[in-house]
Amino acid sequence: MTLTVTVLGATGSIGRSTTDLLAQHAGRFRAGSLVGGKDVAALAKLAREMKAGFAALADAGAGPALREALSGSGIPNGAGESAVLEAVERDADIVVAAVSGAAGLKPTHAALRLGRTVALANKESLVCAGDAFMRDAARYKARLLPVDSEHNALAQALGDGRVSDVAKMTITASGGPFRTWTRERIAAASPTEAAAHPTWSMGMKINIDSASLMNKGLELIEAHHLFAIEPERLDVIVHPQSIVHGLVYWRDGAVTAGLAMPDMRVPIAHCLGLGDRLTIERGRNLDLAAAGSLTFEPADEARFPCLAIARAALAAGGAAPTVMNAANEIAVAAFIRGAIGFYAIAELVERACAHFAPRYRGAPADVDEALAIDAEVRAWSLEALPLARAA
Ligand code: NDP
Ligand code: MG
Repeated sequence: MTLTVTVLGATGSIGRSTTDLLAQHAGRFRAGSLVGGKDVAALAKLAREMKAGFAALADAGAGPALREALSGSGIPNGAGESAVLEAVERDADIVVAAVSGAAGLKPTHAALRLGRTVALANKESLVCAGDAFMRDAARYKARLLPVDSEHNALAQALGDGRVSDVAKMTITASGGPFRTWTRERIAAASPTEAAAHPTWSMGMKINIDSASLMNKGLELIEAHHLFAIEPERLDVIVHPQSIVHGLVYWRDGAVTAGLAMPDMRVPIAHCLGLGDRLTIERGRNLDLAAAGSLTFEPADEARFPCLAIARAALAAGGAAPTVMNAANEIAVAAFIRGAIGFYAIAELVERACAHFAPRYRGAPADVDEALAIDAEVRAWSLEALPLARAA
């Protein structure tokens, strides 16, 4: 049986890794809907190559250009929110949710509501509205498979074991490009330097989050929801080689870990396989003798304050992670366009968390509430940005 796979965020880094696997296993998979943000040429080219069942762009204004770019292909297409929804609603055995940022919440949630099997890369869904997502996954009998490499490794290391038997779960961080830099040097870092990730090849936003360690903070929150495990049993360790991705410490002292070369196709293949193992062509097999040594060190929250901010948001619960994520997205975008310095990211996020803490206590009841908070915090953060310039 050929499985239909819909990809949200198909033209992005995770999306490309996914369609690469689909093409490698063409007999097993067919591309369902492919969804992008606004890049007409990239989506049209990919949709033609993959013979997609449907192509959609979130940008409502891109409709005519997409229609033109796909003319003669026979691939139905559309643009705007309703087209993205149609893309999700079309039949699919697996939906890979790989839109970047809070923009991924709605389409990912729509897939859950349809009871789909969702391979989840969009960690922001769980960060911004984790309670609602996990509740609705259960309610609509949707399967959530973790694509994020650390969580995928944890899921594999956990196997059929019980979370109640787990003493703690640890996710690893490469440490990013600034792992060995002094605070002064990091403070003056450029977007290009921050985006130069040592081990992973990823989209721009997550690259900056990796440099600030905010990505690890987001991942702690993601793990808390995915595995229903308290923050006290979750931690982070820096592992520059990015070979061990997640470790499960059992209460009897045994530890199981997930290892692989840093290639997102490995966790994506695990999700797409649905229990079967897929061969990855041109994959790099792990050679531990060649790797030589695997090293580990604690994360330095003095140089990487975003990790501490995220831990605090996780401990505070409620809407704190929603607020944090929104402010971080604004701050990261401002850093990328050169409007603020690197440490101004942490400074802005911290101020947003403090500002909104008294206002929003409970967790967002649903995606709409999470998006309303997200919009308010974004507006506030944009206004607060000039104050953060010097930081
Ligand atoms: P990219 O920036 O490379 O890709 C984002 C994709 O989303 C693009 O296809 C983009 O299209 C599309 N997109 C943007 N806005 C919208 C929208 N409003 N509606 C629909 N599609 C949209 O991101 P990554 O692939 O790096 O990351 C995707 C997600 O996966 C993130 O949540 C990230 O945290 C997570 N993740 C990524 C990892 C990685 O290795 N890259 C690892 C683990 C998790 P367009 O280009 O046209 O705007
Ligand atoms: Mg990760």
